[in-house]
Amino acid sequence: MSKYDEIPYKIYLDEAEIPDKWYNVRADMKNKPAPLIHPGTLQPLKFEDMQPIFCDELIRQELNETDAYIPIPEPVHNFYKMYRPSPLTHATFLEKALDTPAHIFYKFEGNNTSGSHKLNSAIAQAYYAKEQGLKGVTTETGAGQWGTALSMACAFFGIDCKVYMVKVSYEQKPFRREVMRTYGASVTPSPSMDTNIGRKINAEHPGTTGSLGCAISEAVEVATSMPGYRYVLGSVLNQVLLHQSIIGLETKAACDKYGIKPDIIIGCAGGGSNLGGLIAPFMGEKLRGEADYRIIAIEPASCPSFTRGKFAYDFADTGMVCPMAKMYTLGHDFIPSANHAGGLRYHGMSTILSQLYHDGLMEARSVEQTAVFEAAELFARTEGILPAPESSHAIRAAIDEAIKCRETGEEKTIIFGLTGTGYFDMTAYESYNEGRMNDYVPTDEDLERGFATIPDLGL
Ligand SMILES: *Cc1c(COP(=O)(O)O)cnc(C)c1O
Repeated sequence: MSKYDEIPYKIYLDEAEIPDKWYNVRADMKNKPAPLIHPGTLQPLKFEDMQPIFCDELIRQELNETDAYIPIPEPVHNFYKMYRPSPLTHATFLEKALDTPAHIFYKFEGNNTSGSHKLNSAIAQAYYAKEQGLKGVTTETGAGQWGTALSMACAFFGIDCKVYMVKVSYEQKPFRREVMRTYGASVTPSPSMDTNIGRKINAEHPGTTGSLGCAISEAVEVATSMPGYRYVLGSVLNQVLLHQSIIGLETKAACDKYGIKPDIIIGCAGGGSNLGGLIAPFMGEKLRGEADYRIIAIEPASCPSFTRGKFAYDFADTGMVCPMAKMYTLGHDFIPSANHAGGLRYHGMSTILSQLYHDGLMEARSVEQTAVFEAAELFARTEGILPAPESSHAIRAAIDEAIKCRETGEEKTIIFGLTGTGYFDMTAYESYNEGRMNDYVPTDEDLERGFATIPDLGL
């Protein structure tokens, strides 16, 4: 007998229980995240400064640190009904395989065509662009999940979508590219020769396979030089964490309904949006002193922004055209080794999560690639779902915590975010299956080269 025996394997909330507001954790933070600043003036960005780049309503959300709840517009809420509420699953098969007294639950966000949580923010961003009367949006994509989600969202609201896709992914993931084109997006490998910054990066790093930072610079350049276009981003920004709070709000509702009390909440962290969304309401309770949780961010050892990065103002992109953010960063010029978890290869981190981590309200840990795929394999064989490499970082940590419980006999409750499926990542699984996967971890000298590119602003 265990305390959760009466709980269904899969908890599905009703459609009527989809939250109708997002939760803005900044409202409950005593130490607010540092503002984005203008790279020229070093002054905090105001609404007008951001207007050429971002959609108006999204800027308001970006700057809003006082309203705890922000209503979800009805058309976005209706779209959510296509694939939400997402299930919270009690991983009993995995628990059995691990022979652990721990209870493991996962919130699964892969149940939509884009295959990840990114659609939660994409649909909101496309909606606000449409409402503003814009022609279209530009963006970057790494592994392709964000570009896919955005192309679905733009198709739904009938606006144009231009995607700059990190070259290595463009070449390795032709299927993802074709999904985007099927939804009507145009997809360009980055760095391209169509933009000033793309030509410059190609000249300085001949043969480069690109990075998210480069692709961001290109997408911003195009958005700011074409009338009727704005740039949208799939992670890192406050507005994206806000939209992703739907994950945490549903998780919390399911926990409250069934008396589940998590001790540990785990998520993978690239730019921080799924983790920020999953933990939002739990962190809110923690900040208000109502409950306590251990919250753990998991990142790849090849791109260790939290665990080895510096907390400093840095550029959000390689081309230095974006605002600067105070965050845990490896330096905007840091180009990580070709880890297979494309969605986790970003040099920086959400300013919200950076501040929470800096204030000791959450932990971070890095894991190596082969161990991540071992966890993915065990998860696929026990729970059935073939996980995305990014998500598998969280699986690894959840398994490690459950193994600790086996050793200590503690019956802890662990919730982790299963952000997506890995069907388009079979090249990664192939290299794992053939024993060709490498676990490159940057040396201190590698990191020093990246840190050297963090500007010294004396802030
Ligand atoms: C993009 C992505 C991530 C990482 O992005 P965050 O903003 O840190 O959440 C994780 N998992 C999947 C499946 C992704 O597509």
